[in-house]
Amino acid sequence: MSEELTKQGMLYLSATPIGNLEDMTLRGIRMLGEADLIAAEDTRHSRKLLAHFDIHTPLTSYHEHNKLDKGPELVKKMLAGDTIVCISDAGLPGISDPGAHLAQLAIEAGIKVSPLPGANAALSALICSGLDTTAFTFYGFLPKTGKKRRELLEQIARKTETLIFYEAPHHLKSTLGDLVKALGPHRPAATARELTKKFEEFRRCTLGDLADYYSEHEPKGEFVIIVGGYDNDEADLVGPAEQLSPRELVEQMEAAGMGRKEAMRETAKKLGISRRDVYQALLDEFT
Ligand code: SAM
Repeated sequence: MSEELTKQGMLYLSATPIGNLEDMTLRGIRMLGEADLIAAEDTRHSRKLLAHFDIHTPLTSYHEHNKLDKGPELVKKMLAGDTIVCISDAGLPGISDPGAHLAQLAIEAGIKVSPLPGANAALSALICSGLDTTAFTFYGFLPKTGKKRRELLEQIARKTETLIFYEAPHHLKSTLGDLVKALGPHRPAATARELTKKFEEFRRCTLGDLADYYSEHEPKGEFVIIVGGYDNDEADLVGPAEQLSPRELVEQMEAAGMGRKEAMRETAKKLGISRRDVYQALLDEFT
């Protein structure tokens, strides 16, 4: 047993590869092998990784749906002296994945919590995006419901730091469409697809160009979307209308005396979207 494993139990949160198995760190492999127990998001998935590295440590499942029962059980084991390594299906546990709650429980119980760093999709995409890396906000997956999603997008429209999103391939087109509506088509942006895998690909252009590209090419694989922050000069570039959401534009026109139907028609024209999209944006208000 290495010096790192003491008699007192502790929790490690370990990165696992996001595609390329060679991105598993030497320290991660050693610690996974030496721990008393591995708490994995999906034991079937992780068994393949562990088999690849000839690791035979017992596995238990720890995920979003059992964390409330399983978390305290794992804490008990650590208090009794066990060293547990928590892993997710890919990348860092706790980043759009289970792990953060277990870390909180362990900290509250006075257990030492330590990282085993490694692969992460968001930061890997960011550093190769060509966009500003000095200040950024990670949003992970956008909320699915119309209202929450719209409110968040409205909030972030004027954020000056780089924005990072995760998205599943079957939602990529609609998410890019919503980002274009909320932030305008001219923002510099990039998609990072299948990072570290055989078909890794970066597209670095503008939000509008990304939306156009993926409306013609079916998205396949895993994606990170990186968007440049709001630039004060942008107002001149895109015109004030594109800085407003459809609802804000309709309201502005109504306040100027226009009827709702006409305001919706004008909004659609100004934003280059369909009247149906404007109607949907207004409906989302009430969902
Ligand atoms: N914990 C992970 C991390 O640290 O990156 C993130 C897990 S989250 C459930 C899965 C999302 O991460 C995917 O939908 C995708 O947006 C992104 N992702 C994971 N692996 C990726 C890869 N190889 N290339 C691009 N994006 C990836």
